[in-house]
Amino acid sequence: MITLREENCPICESSNRRLLGKPGKISEAFKKHSEIGEVNVVRCLDCSGKYIHPMAYFSEAFTKELYNLDYWNSNGALQDFKNMGEKITIMASVKKLSGNPRGKTLLDVGCGTGEFLKAGADAGFDVTGIDVDSTTTDHITRKYGFRTMTGLLGPKTFPENSFDVVVLSHVIEHLQRPGELLGVIHGILNPNGLFVMCTPNSDSLEEDVHHVYGRVRHDRSKCYYLSPFLNPYHIIGFNRKSARTILERSGFAVEYFKVRSGLEWEDQRLKFIIRAIKVMGALVNKGMSIVTISRKPVAASAG
Ligand SMILES: [Zn+2]
Repeated sequence: MITLREENCPICESSNRRLLGKPGKISEAFKKHSEIGEVNVVRCLDCSGKYIHPMAYFSEAFTKELYNLDYWNSNGALQDFKNMGEKITIMASVKKLSGNPRGKTLLDVGCGTGEFLKAGADAGFDVTGIDVDSTTTDHITRKYGFRTMTGLLGPKTFPENSFDVVVLSHVIEHLQRPGELLGVIHGILNPNGLFVMCTPNSDSLEEDVHHVYGRVRHDRSKCYYLSPFLNPYHIIGFNRKSARTILERSGFAVEYFKVRSGLEWEDQRLKFIIRAIKVMGALVNKGMSIVTISRKPVAASAG
């Protein structure tokens, strides 16, 4: 079941928005839910993030249906060392900001197949992973012996001030209420702890090209940014401004902010043209992925 709710910007709560169009591509699983015909892709006129309006909430059963579909459609679900190079680079920056990792704890929220945990453990952190999918958490425990939990991270999953580093990589763009999860993360971080947030740059050159191509090829009235109803189901799109906005609104002090090319992502279907777009995107400052490291200020316990 899908429930639609009239909600303001999930990033900054503003009600000022501009219509970008109806979502361009719809998967089979969504086609039988006619209510999604009411959903638009919009841009917030205050934080400049993109989101869907009205917001769509999926029932647990429907989420599972989607997940099973995608799981069986992708044969690389447990492919190891995906984008490992990028994770190692990010962990080196975390280490610089955190100081000696000895005895420090790291939690990866939405740990997937464990690449960030591996990079974190190799950098010297004591790592824990949490993910909704037991296939991947079991795999990580079996393969690396890292501590994992299966489920959603909620306010009661861990006590306050439990971790020195929390990682949230390519999760936030899937959430209807991202501020709630950032609030939980802020709570479980130790004062002075670091929060690593990575998300696609929704205003990248690649996204621009994808949007224009979709309009020319398929339907000029539609919006091919985000893909709320097609894998990977991004319902919010961040850019430089909106990524910084949500971090600051959640009480974090941004210390590292980079838009990376996305070239280190190992895509087996990577064609020359996509590689060229990524290189050009990086050159014109419109790279594919946003990497941020923020700190929970010591005196921010009320945040
Ligand atoms: Zn906004």
